[in-house]
Order: sequence, then C-alpha cells, then structure tokens
Amino acid sequence: MLVYSKIKSLKDNISSLKKGTHIGFVPTMGALHKGHLSLIKRAVKENDIVVVSIFVNPTQFDKKEDLVNYPKTIDTDLSLLKSVHCDIVFTPTANEIYDNNISSQDFDFDGLEFQMEGKFREGHFNGVGTIVKRLFEIVTPHNAYFGEKDFQQLQIIRKMVHKNKMPVKIIGCEIYRENDGLAMSSRNTRLSEKHRKAAPFIYKTLTQVKSKFNTESISEIKNWVIEEFKKQPLLTLEYFEIADEETLKPATKVDAKYKYRAFIAVFAGKIRLIDNISL
Ligand code: AMP
Repeated sequence: MLVYSKIKSLKDNISSLKKGTHIGFVPTMGALHKGHLSLIKRAVKENDIVVVSIFVNPTQFDKKEDLVNYPKTIDTDLSLLKSVHCDIVFTPTANEIYDNNISSQDFDFDGLEFQMEGKFREGHFNGVGTIVKRLFEIVTPHNAYFGEKDFQQLQIIRKMVHKNKMPVKIIGCEIYRENDGLAMSSRNTRLSEKHRKAAPFIYKTLTQVKSKFNTESISEIKNWVIEEFKKQPLLTLEYFEIADEETLKPATKVDAKYKYRAFIAVFAGKIRLIDNISL
C-alpha cells in the first residue's frame, strides 16, 4: 500500500498505470470504521486498484468546534486500509488541496442543497462539492463509492457529476450499523456513555416510521416522531423529514410513482447524528 500526501506524486503514480486500469475511489475524512471499510471492500472487488483519501475537509464544516474536534486516528486508519487491500492512500494537507486558498466554490445542485442538511449547515454542500470535484480531478476514478448514510450528499454528488458530465460512476452503498442499529459514524466515538446508550433510539424510531408509512399519513407520522423525541431527555430532534428520494423535497402525500425516504438529525449532547431509511 502506497501513501501519498502530495498531489503530484499521486498523479504521477496514476498516470503510470497501464491503460484500461479501473480505478475505484473512496473519499473519507478518516477515523475509519466498518462502514467505511464496507465501501472500500466493495471498491476492491469491483476495480483493479483502489484509492482512499483521508482528508478532513475544512470547507464543509459550518462549526469550527466540530472541525477542531473531528477524531483523527491516522495510524489505525492505515492498518485498517492495509487489511482490506487498499492500494493507495491519499492524505493531503488543506494547503496542498486548496493551494493556500481555503474556500469553497458556489454550486447549483438544482435545489437539492436547500433541503434538510442544507437548512441547518450553511455552506456545507458547497464545501462537499468543492472537495469531491477537486479529488475527482486528482484521482480520475472510474467508480467512486459513497455511503447512503449521507444520502443527501450522495444525491448531490450524483447531480454534480451529471451536470458537469464528469466521467465517473457514482455508487451508493448501504448504511452499515452497529448491532443495536446505530448507524456507524466517526462521530460516535465522541458520544458519552449515556448518550451512546440513548442513540439507538434514532434507528428504532426510523424502523417504526417505515412500518407506519403504509397506514398513517405523513403529517401523523411527523407529529408522532416529534412527540417520541420529547420523551427522550438525552436526545434533541433537529429535524425529521419524509422526502422524495430524487428531488429531496418534503412529501406531503404519497404517490406510488415515487420513492420516499425518511431523514433525521438528532443531537445527542453536543454530538450531531444523522440517519435515514428507505420507505
Ligand atoms: P466520512 O469519513 O464521514 O466523510 O465518510 C466517508 C464515506 O463513508 C461517505 O461516503 C459516507 O457516507 C460513508 N459512510 C460513513 N458512515 C457510513 C456507514 N455507517 N455506512 C455506510 N457508509 C458510511
């Protein structure tokens, strides 16, 4: 496994590959867990070589505190990556990526960026678009793997690739969960013991939403979720939404022609957790 922190060294390696070598790419912010590894294992199966980036992208954080406290476990990350047969790891600094000008480009994602996370995390998706576009230009992957854990992000990247006719296939991968249902996240390690114990309630609620979806109205379900979280002293609901999977617009009634998903953001203490489920 090769580890590069400089763009030029990585690009030199990639341009030396035999023509037709299929490159799979998994962008991450490190603090790797089994959720990340499930994406990487799939990339290893489906490509000739796999590049994983570890880069805590400053432009996608709306809160400085969250950026500063983002967990960093580079040594463990590298041994995990080796164990799943990753070929190349890219670990650039912010100045290397942004050429000493750490700022985001402005994107138009046809409105996807104004829903849910977009309402609560200002500038987040411009930051995501900027870094993913930059990494795609550097790595030139054939296939890029993203988790459905960040479903809005996945749809936004699909939109960016489609609008800019980028030659990369975006592959969405299922959410990997702890045994108690909590979606794996690098942020979970920052939960206190009591918040960690309370957090599986998020997925439990989503599974109940799924079973209510066929029999109850959307507004009934939304009110039910709000009331359920009021009974949870350790969890604060930021938003709950049922939305069309393609447009991410909130659904008011169900039309059998479209696919829907429930999306949720919850604070467990100071830690913000997101999750979603297909309905
Ligand atoms: P992050 O390091 O949080 O930016 O995540 C890197 C990639 O891993 C993103 O595409 C995430 O959606 C994906 N990912 C994170 N957690 C999970 C999970 N529990 N299951 C599946 N994919 C995940």
